[in-house]
Amino acid sequence: MEKLNPFKIAQEQLDNTAKLLGLDEATHAILREPMMEFHFTIPVRMDSGKVKVFRGFRVQYNNARGPCKGGIRFHPEETIDTVRALAAWMTWKTAVVNIPLGGGKGGIIVDPQKLSDREKERLCRSFMAALWKNVGPFKDVMAPDVGTTAQMMGWMMDEYCKIQGECCPGIITGKPVEMGGSLGRKEATGYGVIITIREAIKRLGLRPQECTASIMGFGNVGQSAAINFVRHLGGKVIAVSCWDHKDTTSYTYSKNHGIDPEFLASITDQYGSIDKEKAKDAGYTVENGDAWISKDTDILIPAALENAVTKENVDNINKRVKIIGEAANGPTTPEADKVLYKRGIFVVPDFLANAGGVTVSYFEQVQNTYNFYWELNDVQHMLDQKMTKAFGDVYAMHKEKKVDMRTAAYLVAVGRVVEAMKLRGWV
Ligand code: GLU
Repeated sequence: MEKLNPFKIAQEQLDNTAKLLGLDEATHAILREPMMEFHFTIPVRMDSGKVKVFRGFRVQYNNARGPCKGGIRFHPEETIDTVRALAAWMTWKTAVVNIPLGGGKGGIIVDPQKLSDREKERLCRSFMAALWKNVGPFKDVMAPDVGTTAQMMGWMMDEYCKIQGECCPGIITGKPVEMGGSLGRKEATGYGVIITIREAIKRLGLRPQECTASIMGFGNVGQSAAINFVRHLGGKVIAVSCWDHKDTTSYTYSKNHGIDPEFLASITDQYGSIDKEKAKDAGYTVENGDAWISKDTDILIPAALENAVTKENVDNINKRVKIIGEAANGPTTPEADKVLYKRGIFVVPDFLANAGGVTVSYFEQVQNTYNFYWELNDVQHMLDQKMTKAFGDVYAMHKEKKVDMRTAAYLVAVGRVVEAMKLRGWV
């Protein structure tokens, strides 16, 4: 298995873009590294009474277009380089959807499934207590990501407000709706993925009702992508794979005439593991976790972690596949990417496909600032507008410069960041 450093991949993708844009050395150097990063030790008193020390990071990659913005992950194999890569991708993500924000990302090395709720709360509060001076609604705004939830954002917001001595809901997004979260935020990433897939289907002259999809990952994003693929596009999802944390392996659940994503979501726990026995009872075929990629389907949606489509498994992709909608961040390795390009598979690149989450996070901050909250329809309508426009901008670049969609997305996004840097007088 290729051992890949995601930050090296992110830097290579940027280098390629810098060449195409003809960036000068200084501009390229600024964009190649994070602007600032914080590393902490976070002591937490566990339920046993003992103190356990965790490591955490926050990377503020670039704020030329606005405050840094991006999620915080709780993951046992978190590394500073993964966080750096994700922070870089956030910078391109906010730029490609043209929202006035920069990019950042955070991570704590922890397996959240091994903590009790009280331990999780103490970890979230201690993390915010370590970070509060360096974040803020106009500095750096966190949000949920892999391993973190709306409830955790709520605890972090509460800690920040206590330290500040005033209500600051805009310090963090993806909060529970009852305490300043936005309607539609939870489903936004998956919904946005489906909007970009809808646009890709249109450009390829396919009929959405006749399209089928196979999805890797059944956490928040995978579930919402599956539900909206069926509800919004009228297509069929024939398989979903997920990680099973009980026996630490992954499985693919399928039905040739289409799975029922809402049913599967109802038997999935908060960490995205489907109850295998209940699925079998309901007539689902259960295969190994890799089976999702070789399904006879039109669309593949990797919605789990980075490095899911690699040079080892890319040849297992079925001949029928026409579109890959990258719901996860960094799911395709550069070598696999070349194979997809050769095969003529249309890739909706990650930071375009999954920008729906941060777009609604931006709407959430706007609502927090106005202290006036929108209806779900309004949120979804505006999200659709932003994602459709972003897809259109990238598609136009893809046609104009005759480059693949990922390169086109980079040209659009990096171009916008560079423009802001110039106007600020940085370069
Ligand atoms: N974690 C999500 C992402 O990778 C959302 C970030 C946000 O809402 O700030 O896009």
